[in-house]
Amino acid sequence: MTGLAYERLHENLKTLGMDRISQLLDGHLERAGKENLSMLEVLDHLIQEEVEAKSQNSMNFRTRLAKFPYKKTLEEFDFSFQPSIDKKTINGLATLKFIYNAENAVFLGPPGVGKTHLAIALGLITIKAGLMVYFTTAADLIEDLREHAKLGLLKQRIGKLGRHKLLIIDEIGYLPMSREDANLLFQLVSRRYEKATMILTSNKPFKEWGGVFADEVVAAAIIDRLLHHATVVNIKGDSYRVKDRRRTGLLRSEASEDQVK
Ligand code: ADP
Ligand code: MG
Repeated sequence: MTGLAYERLHENLKTLGMDRISQLLDGHLERAGKENLSMLEVLDHLIQEEVEAKSQNSMNFRTRLAKFPYKKTLEEFDFSFQPSIDKKTINGLATLKFIYNAENAVFLGPPGVGKTHLAIALGLITIKAGLMVYFTTAADLIEDLREHAKLGLLKQRIGKLGRHKLLIIDEIGYLPMSREDANLLFQLVSRRYEKATMILTSNKPFKEWGGVFADEVVAAAIIDRLLHHATVVNIKGDSYRVKDRRRTGLLRSEASEDQVK
């Protein structure tokens, strides 16, 4: 290849944003000469690599946009520790059928039983499938909606959140909401109803949501839309954090016994 064509090729790859091909080109050209590879083989390899790099980049980008507080996968979840969770239900959710059908999922249970872990794990699967996800706590979401409402931009904000095929609202019920806050949440839930999925987590059973939302009527309206098409996972069990503490406690007592001996 002449120097001019070579330079132009790199320039054009840069213009097209095909960085991976640009990186691999020299090696591939050399290999093609040595191993007598056909043009089809070289092109196939290079373009396959570019597609993979692009999809990895966009996955990383969507993962950053999702704002997960931590990253945990379904593989990291120990189902044997939490027998009240039906693994089949979670595996069913992991097929993402509920997302494609714009249905919801709610994880209920005391602190530390894995509600946020499962929500994040499903979020990561959704991102892998090429969809947009956004994670927020109920408290942060309310503050966000309140600020936009103050500026008269509530509709726009809720519309923008609609770009995320999955919205995870964590920790409903940890902090009580005012009636106005509950109303903001109701507007969001109504807009997403039958259009886009939400995963909610809460330490409070539905019957206590009236207290959380400061208004039984708004609570009922939210629950009604939320649960019309939803999978509810009720987790009853010990906190995994306590299990970890117990284990380290045990190790410590074993260690001190060792020291005594
Ligand atoms: P919560 O129900 O309060 O949202 P989390 O999902 O945040 O609890 O879980 C607390 C911690 O314990 C996290 O680090 C999470 O990854 C871990 N954890 C909880 N349950 C399990 C489990 N069954 N297997 C593995 N890790 C778990
Ligand atoms: Mg949590």
